[in-house]
Amino acid sequence: MPLPLSTRVDVAIRGVRVDGPVQRHGGAGPSDDGHVVLGGTGAAPPLDPTSPYSISDGRLLLDGADLGLDVAPVGRPRFYDLVTAEGIPYERLARLHSADVLATTVVQTCVRYEEFTRCRFCAIEESLRSGTTTAVKTPAQLAEVAEAAVRLDGVRQMVLTTGTSAGWDRGARHLARCVRAIKEVVPHLPVQVQCEPPADLAAIAELFVAGAQAIGIHVESLDDGVRARWMPGKATVALHDYWQAWAEAVRVFGWNRVSTYLLVGLGEDQEELIEGAGDLIAMGVYPFIVPFRPLAGTLAARDGIPSPDPAVVAEVTRRVGWALRAAGMHGSAQGAGCAACGAGSALPAVGA
Ligand code: SF4
Repeated sequence: MPLPLSTRVDVAIRGVRVDGPVQRHGGAGPSDDGHVVLGGTGAAPPLDPTSPYSISDGRLLLDGADLGLDVAPVGRPRFYDLVTAEGIPYERLARLHSADVLATTVVQTCVRYEEFTRCRFCAIEESLRSGTTTAVKTPAQLAEVAEAAVRLDGVRQMVLTTGTSAGWDRGARHLARCVRAIKEVVPHLPVQVQCEPPADLAAIAELFVAGAQAIGIHVESLDDGVRARWMPGKATVALHDYWQAWAEAVRVFGWNRVSTYLLVGLGEDQEELIEGAGDLIAMGVYPFIVPFRPLAGTLAARDGIPSPDPAVVAEVTRRVGWALRAAGMHGSAQGAGCAACGAGSALPAVGA
C-alpha cells in the first residue's frame, strides 16, 4: 500500500517506538533521527518511546492497530566495526543515514555555536561533547571510511556537511579537500556538500571541480524576522547573499543540483513560505520541506518549543510537492544529498 502523506508527516513529527535501528544523537542542522524503511522508502523519524506509532513484525502500528505498511529498521552497517590506523572507530567519522547514505560533518564545531548566536534547532557540538564523533575529519580518514562503506554496505551516496568556520570560505575549502580525497578512492560515489554561502563565490566552483555533484546551501527560512529569532548568527548573512549563492551554484552545478532546507514550524507565514519555495524552484533550486522538531540538545528543546501541527506540514508539503512536480523537479535526480535521499522530508510521499 502506498504511504499516505498524512501518515508520513505524522510519523515524522511524532516519531516511532522501535528497537535497534541506526540512530545519531546531536549533529549539525535540524536533524536527529532513527532510520527506517517505511512503505518501501527511507524515512528518518525521531525515536520516541512515547510515540503512538510502533513497529511490530515489520509493520507500522498506530496505538497497536496495524496500518498495513511494511516498515523495517535499518540495521547496523558493517563498516561501523572498523577502526583507522590511529585507532578511531569509523562510526565516529561518518554515519549511515537511511539505508544507503553515508553522512558526515567534516568540522563538528561552528563559529555560531554560542548561546546568543547559535541556531535554536541545531545541536552540532553536542555529539562532540558526548564523544561520539571527532572535531575535524581529515580527507584521508573520510576517503578510508567511504571506501569501506561502499564495499561492505553498498552505500550509494555521501553527504558532507560542516559547521561554519570564521574564514571567508565558511568551511567550503575543507569540504573541497575532503571531496577530492573521497573521489580518488570511490570515483563513482555521488557526493553532496552543504555549507553556508561562501563570502567569495569562487568556492562554489571549487567544490564542483573537486568532484561534488550536488550542493545544499541551507537557509531554513526566507523570512528575515524568523531568521533573526531562530538563527541570529546565521542571519548576519543576508538573504541577498543566499540568492546570489544559489544562482552561482545553479550556474556551476546545474538545474536541480542545488537544494536548500525550508523548515515548517518556526512561526513563518505559510503562504510566504510556499511562495518563496516557488521562487526557488523557478531558479532551479530544490526546496527541501522539513518539519521543525525540538531535538535533544537544542535551545528550542530547552525552551519547550513544540513541533508544528502535522496538518500544516502536510499542506505545505502537498503544495510545494505539486510545484516541484509541475517543474519536473525530483529530489532523486540530485543523485546525492538530503533531497536525493528524501528520508528527512515527506516530499517523496507526494512524488517529489
Ligand atoms: S550555522 Fe547554525 S545550523 Fe549550521 S552548524 Fe552552525 S549553529 Fe548549527
